[in-house]
Amino acid sequence: MKLDAKAMRYMSTEDFRVLTAIEIGSRNHDIVPATLISQLSHLRSGGINKFITDLIKRKLIASESTSKYVGYKLVYAGYDYLALKTLSKRGSVASVGNQIGVGKESDIFVIAGDNEEQAVLKLHRLGRLSFRNVKNKRDYFRPDQSPSWMYMSRLSAMKEFAFMQVLHQHGFPVPKPIDQNRHCIVMELLDAHPLRQIEKIGEPGKLYSELMDLIVRLAKHGLIHGDFNEFNILVRDDGSPILIDFPQMVSTSHANAEFYFNRDVDCIRTFFKRRYGYESVLYPKFALDANKEFDLDVQVAASGFTKKDQSQLESFLESEQADGLAHNNDDDDNEEEELPSDEEIVYADDYDKDEAGSRDSKDADTEDDEDQDDDEDN
Ligand code: ADP
Ligand code: MG
Repeated sequence: MKLDAKAMRYMSTEDFRVLTAIEIGSRNHDIVPATLISQLSHLRSGGINKFITDLIKRKLIASESTSKYVGYKLVYAGYDYLALKTLSKRGSVASVGNQIGVGKESDIFVIAGDNEEQAVLKLHRLGRLSFRNVKNKRDYFRPDQSPSWMYMSRLSAMKEFAFMQVLHQHGFPVPKPIDQNRHCIVMELLDAHPLRQIEKIGEPGKLYSELMDLIVRLAKHGLIHGDFNEFNILVRDDGSPILIDFPQMVSTSHANAEFYFNRDVDCIRTFFKRRYGYESVLYPKFALDANKEFDLDVQVAASGFTKKDQSQLESFLESEQADGLAHNNDDDDNEEEELPSDEEIVYADDYDKDEAGSRDSKDADTEDDEDQDDDEDN
């Protein structure tokens, strides 16, 4: 999915207020009625039509009819816009460059912050799989659709950021977390390649042991990655591995912990055997090696990503797996990721950060910072 950074440049204060109002309204309404948009945006109901038409034309919102009324809802581009606006105000994103990854449920871009340092922006897109094969796109916007893609994508980003922070603080080889808002995270850009792209390794046994040690070290800290495979392990030129992609991490006290632990171990064993012809009789076992010494799982829960968040996200991911949309992936090695061509990517290096910055004090409750409403059920 393309990231239309160009939309950032031409947005009036009113457009932004209407967009924000639709976001807030969608916490309680799958389709937000115009009267509510008017109330939340503090704009006259007669006046909002123009802005709504404009936002629809730019594909930031979509209109949708229920049996009772015509209303509006955010689509991904609109949600992207709101997140980028916030990240840009905070100085974490100043320009958006090349797309470097299309994950199953994410889009990854190189960006630069106000400090001009390059970083990575990961936009979580949960629900993309679930809806990919739905012919009738209207199903995607079904009024009773719950939990929504927006809510699940935000939970996924919150979780990934919380885990990345805790792991980074404890010296695990993961990208440095920089910022998070809505469904987006900003993290360090790694100078490393996915293991999947590495055809030959001088000493496969060395990397194999390092990876198994990493699985064990995580478990001793109370954590299981849950998707520990050649796509989510990046390798630096010096051969050292870095772990990415944390939305599916679980605690070693999870009911299926042993299953997840063994699956991570098996992924590595299978890949090393298939790709490098390397096999070892040594591999960690949950019962012997996963005895917990530290409580990072508890620390993450204390960081704001609650147990309730965790279980909601988990059941969503599990339902996708049950539908045959498994996150954990066993693609054959020939299949290349599909990246958009250059023309499809819109670059933005000068969008206006102050636009829409001037809302009056009545708007305090429509502040676009999501940090305060973590436990809202939108
Ligand atoms: P998904 O959840 O969609 O699998 P990932 O977080 O695994 O997304 O990222 C997908 C791909 O993007 C990775 O395989 C890697 O090539 C690239 N990538 C992700 N994060 C970084 C990063 N911090 N630095 C460099 N490349 C990254
Ligand atoms: Mg991944």
